[in-house]
Amino acid sequence: MILRIEKIGLSLETGDELLNKLLVNGKAHYPKEFGGFLMGYYSGDNKCLHITDTIIPKEYQASKYSFERSTTGVEKEFTEFYSENPRKVYVGEWHTHPDSSPIPSTTDICAINTIINSKITSIPNPVLLIIGYSKTTVDFGFYVWFENKLYKYE
Ligand SMILES: [Zn+2]
Repeated sequence: MILRIEKIGLSLETGDELLNKLLVNGKAHYPKEFGGFLMGYYSGDNKCLHITDTIIPKEYQASKYSFERSTTGVEKEFTEFYSENPRKVYVGEWHTHPDSSPIPSTTDICAINTIINSKITSIPNPVLLIIGYSKTTVDFGFYVWFENKLYKYE
């Protein structure tokens, strides 16, 4: 799928295979939230982001209404990923909202600042993917932090 934010001229592309993988991993932790790191690459002009891979955290704290991952234990996986995929970088994070909609909570917005200020995951425009799901529905909400504001990809 390809999504855009006309206002800031950014677009995002990702594939069903990855999204299904995230959903399967997320649902395995029902009724708690679950998530991980998003990896990908930017087009030459930095206007289009391709999300291609995930790294699943080893240490995290989760409840039905919160998810907090740690970078502890995945340092080696990041190093290996970068050496195998020289074009690809860390681009953001994903997590689920079980039995709920993919709307960022106040905690989610605070977590973005943690990302920006972190040593390992510091990037200026992190993407946030929230997967809201129930027994019968799935809704993917993609957001990007751009100039101190969170924008939704439509
Ligand atoms: Zn959330």
